[in-house]
Order: sequence, then structure tokens, then C-alpha cells
Amino acid sequence: ADVTNAPAIVVGSGYGGAVAALRLGQAGIRTVMIEMGQLWNTAGSDGKIFCSTAAPDKRSMWFKTRTEAPLATFLWLDVVNKDITAYPGVLDRVHYDNMSVYVGRGVGGGSLVNGGMAVTPLQSYFAEQFPTVDASAMYNTYFPRARTMLGVNTVDSTWFESTEWYQFTRTSRKAAANTGLKTTFVPNVYDFGYMEQEAAGTATKSALAQEVIYGNNYGKKSLDKTYLAAALGTGNVTIHTLEKVKAVTRASDGSYVLSVDRIDTTGAVVESKQYSCTYLFLGGGSLGTTELLVRARDTGALPALNSSVGGGWSTNGNTMLGRANHIWDTTGANQATMPVMGIDDWANTDNPVFAEIAPLPIGFETWVSLYLAITKNPQRASFTYDSASGGVKLGWTAAQSAVSVAMAKKLFDRINAANATIYRYDLFGSASKVFADDFCYHPLGGCVLGQATDDYGRVKGYSKLYVTDGSLVPGNIGVNPFVTITALAERTMERVLAEDF
Ligand code: FAD
Repeated sequence: ADVTNAPAIVVGSGYGGAVAALRLGQAGIRTVMIEMGQLWNTAGSDGKIFCSTAAPDKRSMWFKTRTEAPLATFLWLDVVNKDITAYPGVLDRVHYDNMSVYVGRGVGGGSLVNGGMAVTPLQSYFAEQFPTVDASAMYNTYFPRARTMLGVNTVDSTWFESTEWYQFTRTSRKAAANTGLKTTFVPNVYDFGYMEQEAAGTATKSALAQEVIYGNNYGKKSLDKTYLAAALGTGNVTIHTLEKVKAVTRASDGSYVLSVDRIDTTGAVVESKQYSCTYLFLGGGSLGTTELLVRARDTGALPALNSSVGGGWSTNGNTMLGRANHIWDTTGANQATMPVMGIDDWANTDNPVFAEIAPLPIGFETWVSLYLAITKNPQRASFTYDSASGGVKLGWTAAQSAVSVAMAKKLFDRINAANATIYRYDLFGSASKVFADDFCYHPLGGCVLGQATDDYGRVKGYSKLYVTDGSLVPGNIGVNPFVTITALAERTMERVLAEDF
């Protein structure tokens, strides 16, 4: 069979992969990036690249026949999800026992579907989670570099206070203030200048047109507009799409050999290919990278991988919930899809929670305050190889989710008590479900820095093999994770290019 050779290969085009590709390309190293999803740059028959949450079609989800939105119901009615044609759409929901995980698929990975919240963690908590990393170098060099490259900006506070599009946030802020809780503005990679033009009617609406989890047609600086555009601009990087890496092994000369399936838009495998490289960078995300390495270890393809591979995984403590406001506390029919504020109770050592104030952009008044709580859940789980399916299983239990739920409940019981309000019971599918305990947006861990790898993401047991993505983060970082993932990847690439090439 033909083998495609490249000095360096990057698997996956999310944050970790995009940083690796850019820095390799700038160093003059010919690099092939392999991404299982599509390149999202071609408009459909409606003139748009992506569909909105209001009218999902086949572009919305990765090979599903019905959408699987986070909010399953409204007023207990199954009105949110729609039947669709199976297609390599942009959002995947991967199901494990007791936990399903949302991930982006396409050139740009999670940046195509996420809420754009670009949060730098507290330095003290970063140092606690990464005791072997020089935190001052991170906060002086790599976090600022990541934020600049990602295009992080902040909503104008005067506009925020007056626009109907953030009424929902102001109402949630009032409830937090009534409880004596602190709120804080959260930066974003969505261009707030563009959003103001949307509100003024001078630009085509995207964040103000219910676009987010199935992609944004305008306004958002996803990785294809930032790191990946720059990577391609070096002339040294090529991206192969609709190609999934199935297995990694090592040849006797030390090079890595990848078995790859290329699919068409029906999902049929149209070609089985082999690639080989000297340097291999894994950026498939917490799920993708961990699955590849657990499989490689346990099938004997890379037997020297250590027992930490697969471990240290968690959900960043994610729990979603809704509160019902009083009739006079409206949240507005018009809601921007990009969150800009969080309730910051992380300093409460008894029950640390950072809760994003999330929109419910469905076009009519709901009186719902929605939140994504990030809790300091100490529970961790492991991935194990499942020889029957050739895939991995995740050992996460319902009891481990219950820890996140209890922490979120403790905070929001206080908010409800202070405001004489109650939870919403109608949003998550079953009649009594107040907390979403079965899905997350922030999968973290699986190849934890300093355990499965050295302190720079070099995989233990093998040379010239690197992890650059969210699998390095030990299960929890206290805020939305992509700025941390990006900054760690910048740190890794600087070191690796200086020492290993
Ligand atoms: P990813 O971005 O997941 O990229 C991995 C890429 O690798 C994907 O494109 C995948 O298709 C590809 N891949 C995987 N395996 C293979 C393989 N075997 N072969 C080929 N390709 C492969 N975080 C924030 O900080 N702020 C937010 O506001 C926010 N909101 C979110 C909202 C949603 C709906 C979701 C799903 C996530 C959100 N996140 C947010 C989380 C954030 O997007 C992720 O933490 C981040 O994308 C992880 O980056 P990564 O580099 O680890 O991997």
C-alpha cells in the first residue's frame, strides 16, 4: 500500500492541534494535519455554511438521525430536537455509560461549536492543578500569547447594560446580587464590535440569530480564522479532512505509522490509507487522543505507554440547570448566544462553583435563567480498552455526576432562597430532572501532563510523540478550558521545537 510520508503529523485540528501545526509550519517543518471532520467553508442551498439551533438540518450533528440538543424539552415537550439525515455534521455527542460528551467535528474542532468563552483560570488554581508547571511563565508568556492569537475581546459594558440581547444576563446578575454573590464579565472570541452591528441592523445576524452549537456563520473567531489560517499561510501545512486515524504504531526505524480511514459524506469508508512521520503530535482532544493511546497500548501497538494513559478524566464538574424567574423579572425574547458573565463563587472553599450565565435563545419570553455550573468535583474516571468493539469504555458513574449536582444545588438553593424562586423542571427530558447530570461540554484528562507525559506533553515511553490537547488537563480547571489548552500547547511547542528538532 502507498504510504504518505511527512516529517510531522498532527492528528486533529482543535486548539491543541492548531497550535502545533502553526508553530511547526513557522519552523519550516512540512506538516500534515489529519482531521476526521469536514472543512466548513462552503455554503449550502440556503446560502449559509452552518444551520441555526432553531432550524437544525443534516449539518448540525455528526452522523445522527435526530438532533441531540442539550436542552431536550421545553415545558416537557419534545419540541427542541428534529429528525435529520445522517451526515458529517459539526457537533457530536459521544455516548459512554452514565456520561455523554459534546465535541466539535471539523477543521477547528471545538472552536466551531463552542460558546467562545475565553477564560484564564485563577493562577492559584492553575498552580494547584499543574504543580510541576512554572505558573509565572504561563501567566507572563503563554496565556497572553494564547489570548492574542485567539482574538479574545470583552463586551462593552455600556452597551451590555442597555441592550435587550443581554437582558437575560442582567436578570441573572440581579438574582446573584440579591444572594450576595459576585459576578464577573467573561471574555469571548466572538467579535463584540460585530455583535453591536448585528444589533444595530447593519450586519448579518449570527450570535443574535440563534447560531452557536451548530456553528456561527459570522462574528466568531474560530480556529479556522486564527491559528489554522496562519498555519496554512506558512505554506508548510496541509490539512486532510474526513480522515480518521484508527491506529498508531511504530516502525523499526522509530517512525510512527498511522492507519487512517477516509470517509465520504454518507460515512462509507472510501479509502484506507497509511501515513508515516518522524514526529507525531496528538490533538484529537480528550476523547480522541486518549482513545488512540489506550488502544495503542492495550493492543500492543505501543506497549511502552504507561498505566497513566486513560486516567485522570473528568467533566470539569459541568452541570446545567435552569431557574424560573418571577413574572416581572423577564429574560427577554431576544438573547445573544455568546455568554458574557459568570457567578464567581470559586473562593468559597466549602463549595467552589463558577457558574456561567447561559442564554436560552428560542425567540420568546421564557422567564428562564439558564446556567452552566463548573464545580470543583474531585472525582476522576478512566478509559479502558474494549476489545469486543475496538473502542474504549469510560468508567464514569452516576454517583460521580451526583457530586457535581450536589455542589451546583448548594449554590443555586441559596440563589432561589434569596430570590423566592424555584428551579425549572421541564428542560432536561424527564419530569423531575432539574440538573443535567448526564452530559458535559468540557471533557478533560486521559493523558495527564506529568503522568502519561513529561511536563511538556512528551509521551512517556516514546520519543518524538506528543500530546497537545485537553487530555493533558487533570479533569478540572475551574473555568471554561480552551484558553488553558491553547496556552499549554504554546508552551509545549516552544520547548519541543527548541530541544527535540
Ligand atoms: P478539540 O477542540 O475537541 O479538537 C479535536 C479535533 O480532533 C476534533 O476536530 C476531532 O474531530 C478531531 N479528532 C479526534 N479524534 C480524531 C481521530 N482519531 N482522527 C482524526 N481526527 C480526530 N470551552 C471554552 O473554553 N469556552 C466555551 O465557551 C466553551 N463552550 C463549549 C460549548 C460546546 C457546545 C462544546 C462542545 C464545548 C465547549 N467548550 C468551551 C469546550 C472546548 O470547545 C474544548 O475544551 C476544546 O475544543 C478542546 O480542545 P482540544 O484541542 O482538546 O480538542
